[in-house]
Amino acid sequence: MPTSIIIIDQARCEGYGFCAEAAPVLLELDDDGILHTRKDVDGDDELERAEAAVRVCPVAALRIGAGV
Ligand code: SF4
Repeated sequence: MPTSIIIIDQARCEGYGFCAEAAPVLLELDDDGILHTRKDVDGDDELERAEAAVRVCPVAALRIGAGV
């Protein structure tokens, strides 16, 4: 299965962190409240986590895209 990535729309992100709680392996908030991806999305389990993170974001700042 090809690798996927989580794409963050930083202009929309409000730093709530719900996504990082849903997928702590994939997403983290830094000390300044800026969201970062931790790694590409590998495997079905991580893809489910990534999809959960996308769903839980109240401002629709995340989407899943094709990795390189
Ligand atoms: S849940 Fe949405 S708004 Fe909150 S940190 Fe994640 S991407 Fe940003």
